[in-house]
Amino acid sequence: MHEISLMRVILETVEQEMAKCNASALNRLTLRIGTLTAVEPDAMRFAFDAAIEKTPMEGATLDIMASALSGRCRDCGTEFPLVEFDSPCPICSGVDIKRLTGTELDIVSIDVD
Ligand SMILES: [Zn+2]
Repeated sequence: MHEISLMRVILETVEQEMAKCNASALNRLTLRIGTLTAVEPDAMRFAFDAAIEKTPMEGATLDIMASALSGRCRDCGTEFPLVEFDSPCPICSGVDIKRLTGTELDIVSIDVD
C-alpha cells in the first residue's frame, strides 16, 4: 500500500500550510487524483484516517476528486479525452500525445480553523 507513504507526504505539506497560517485544526482536505495514478481512493481515505488520529488534524474530512485522462496532440494541437493510455489523436491520428491530466496527485484545497 503505497497510499500510506503518499498520504504521509501530503500531510507534511498540510502541516506546513497549517503552521504558516497558525491554524489549530483541519476541517477538510481536498485532493485531485488522476485516474492513471493507480492510487485507490478508498486506500487513501483509510491512510488519511489512520494518519490523522491523535493529531491536530483528527476529525477532518477528506474529499477526493477524480481527474480523468486527457491529452494534447503535438502534431495538430487538439485536446481530447484519452480513452486508453496510448489513444491516437481523433483529428489527425497522430500518436505523439502529451498527457495533460490523469497522472496528477494534487492538493486542491486545505480548509482550516
Ligand atoms: Zn492531431
